[in-house]
Amino acid sequence: MKFTVPRGTKDILPNEVALWQYIEKIARETFDLFCFEEIRTPLFEATGLFERGIGGDTDIVEKEMYTFEDKGGRLLTLRPEGTAPVVRSCIQHNLTKQTSPLKLFYCGPMFRYERPQAGRYRQFHQMGVEHLGNPHPMADAEIISLGYRLFSKLGLENLKVKLNSVGCPVCRTVIEERLKQFIGSNLEHLCENCKRRFNTKPLRILDCKNKGCTTYFTGLPNIFESQCRECKDHFSQVVDQLTEIKIPFQIDHKLVRGLDYYSRTTFEILSDQLGAQNAVCGGGRYDGLMKQMEGPDTPAVGFAFGMERAVLLLQELNIASQLKQGEDLVLISIGTETKAFAFKILDQLREATIKTNLNFTKDDLKSQLKAADKSNAKYVLIIGEDEINSNIFQLKNLKTREQISLTGEELIPFIKENLKNIKSQLQ
Ligand code: AMP
Repeated sequence: MKFTVPRGTKDILPNEVALWQYIEKIARETFDLFCFEEIRTPLFEATGLFERGIGGDTDIVEKEMYTFEDKGGRLLTLRPEGTAPVVRSCIQHNLTKQTSPLKLFYCGPMFRYERPQAGRYRQFHQMGVEHLGNPHPMADAEIISLGYRLFSKLGLENLKVKLNSVGCPVCRTVIEERLKQFIGSNLEHLCENCKRRFNTKPLRILDCKNKGCTTYFTGLPNIFESQCRECKDHFSQVVDQLTEIKIPFQIDHKLVRGLDYYSRTTFEILSDQLGAQNAVCGGGRYDGLMKQMEGPDTPAVGFAFGMERAVLLLQELNIASQLKQGEDLVLISIGTETKAFAFKILDQLREATIKTNLNFTKDDLKSQLKAADKSNAKYVLIIGEDEINSNIFQLKNLKTREQISLTGEELIPFIKENLKNIKSQLQ
């Protein structure tokens, strides 16, 4: 029996990795620019952390968690998202007491037992930011602008920011009551999930992606009219700040997001190039989560974006070929006797930080030259018996096809100097 990857997971093959590294690099640079520091937490946590943090009435906790009992009888879950673990870590290590506000980012695989489709996996990767200890609407606007600037920097156009506020615990009951009145007469037409949530978490009904249900959401009452003064003020300041720094957005009353911990601002960044799974980034404010997890009462706001979806978008831009770094130099040794000498040069070139490759099994010129041409290398250096005896080597620039004769001693300084020029031209 042949093994293949488990359903809903994928190998990231070498020809795709350059794109992943590029996204990570731009994201890390942007997070740093906005003064966020990295935090790394385990891939699994106590199951209760997610039940309490994400909320029992969510798709994630109800049906998507990879939960197992370890040999010591502990109930553990592969992390389905990054916020609850970051909050757990902040509480455990008193991080918000030491630094407030605290700006953190994370990066890594997440696990959800979802129905796999394009852009939706069971193991997927997220990068996310969390700004803890800051209730100011500017912190919300900063987070949204960080997401928008990051995707713009990656070269993505036609992005949409959708924005909403889901209110706070004070006005949530009013919002939910109004929603129930609106939905009430159509409840029988909604799916079983919606019917159940009608009584437990009515707002979560708006998160239903079922076409049969969403038709009944048109004409929904304006969610802001049911909100308290503080929530209205907070949201209008977020809107003002975003307008001030020219981040385009659309208000969408139905945007409630699939996790229980959100309060006030929720947002998503979407691209119409992604088909059904069109959200590339999602987040919002979660002022109550830290206290709910028995930590200090600390307001917070953050987002996470999916690497797989960002990769799908960048693949459309065809930048992958420009990202792949070929060798600086390919060594070609002609004849079996020259291999040992070439191996020694190979080591010296690498010692001098020149990215070099040598085919150990081939010794004819033609096939090695052909491979070097295909490899996108900048130079080839040919080593035959004549070169070894005369200490004069032929270095060929594969772009310009120019060839130059150099002594053994001149080789490394010449290559280093010229690579510096080539690389600075590329930047
Ligand atoms: P969430 O953690 O649900 O707020 O999702 C944040 C972002 O993670 C989404 O906008 C997606 O880009 C990505 N994402 C969520 N679930 C998946 C999944 N199953 N597969 C791939 N990406 C996902």
